[in-house]
Amino acid sequence: MNASPFKVHQTTVAPGKRASIDIPVSRDAADSVVSLPVRVIHGKKEGPVLFVSAAVHGDEISGVEVARRLIKKVSPARLSGTLIVVPVVNAYGFVAGSRYLPDRRDLNRSFPGRPDGPLASRLAYLFRTEIMEKADFGIDLHSAAAHRYNLPQIRVSSESERALELARAFAPPVIMTSKLRDGSMRAFAHEIGVEMLVFEAGEALRFDKRSTRVGVNGVLRTMQAMGMLSLRKPKRPPHPTLEAHRSMWLRAPRGGIAAIRAESGRIVKEGAVLAVVRNPVGDEEDVIKSPIDGIVIGHSRLGVVNRGDAMIHLAQIGDTDTLLDPETEEWFTGVMLDEHEVM
Ligand SMILES: [Zn+2]
Repeated sequence: MNASPFKVHQTTVAPGKRASIDIPVSRDAADSVVSLPVRVIHGKKEGPVLFVSAAVHGDEISGVEVARRLIKKVSPARLSGTLIVVPVVNAYGFVAGSRYLPDRRDLNRSFPGRPDGPLASRLAYLFRTEIMEKADFGIDLHSAAAHRYNLPQIRVSSESERALELARAFAPPVIMTSKLRDGSMRAFAHEIGVEMLVFEAGEALRFDKRSTRVGVNGVLRTMQAMGMLSLRKPKRPPHPTLEAHRSMWLRAPRGGIAAIRAESGRIVKEGAVLAVVRNPVGDEEDVIKSPIDGIVIGHSRLGVVNRGDAMIHLAQIGDTDTLLDPETEEWFTGVMLDEHEVM
């Protein structure tokens, strides 16, 4: 069936068309207009409405490139349903290289928001009324914080079987089921019946090819699973998808100079040395060993650490033996991040 027109803010988009809609958020202190940049790709045929958002945390920019490529790749002529892309939700933080809004509030703890609250609350309100409440499904793109790297992974609520199915269609290296946090976009989406995936990949303030590639292909595969696209060649990922329900941060046992031995993507057995911290003169060192069989899903990129700094994010997985190359004792799938790729 042909689609009906789709409205966002003051713009009505005809079936088979695209539209660029900049929704004003506020004027900043220097009197410049700050807006929410929205791109709507409205398919000819009826189908689900999916939103893809990035830079809710303004310094987590890896998803902005994923969003930019999706806008170029998806054609309204071949689309069933509607794709709403918001490449930069928190324009204030994006420009300032900051996770937060100028008032130091976290947008992802400000949902559902209200029209007369602090700036973060107003932006959350605008985003949910103009975007989320018009969608059936959402994918929010994040990265690790500054000086940390995340293996591309999907975070999904264990409460939704449908969202888990779509996470499997996305096919990232790792799916982590996690609890909903109060005030987050995902918790609000759950309340209003919008299924959501959170994609975490790469490092704040940087782009990397692997995060971009896994992100773009994952969203396209998810859209295919939702019946929005039929891809000529559905690209299969070059790795299996591991599912984990529990993860832990391993912290620096002392201050000093840090060397990570097992970067994100590495499968490790209990007892494996994951990182070493030495004093600067080199006569003392402590090691961090893996307390479980697992996969490293995030690691610190800082060279100097204090006691207690988070160094390795480890997710628990079942049987590691089947995943390891018997010769090298490493994951054979090519997700290893020996070099930090840049665009
Ligand atoms: Zn984030």
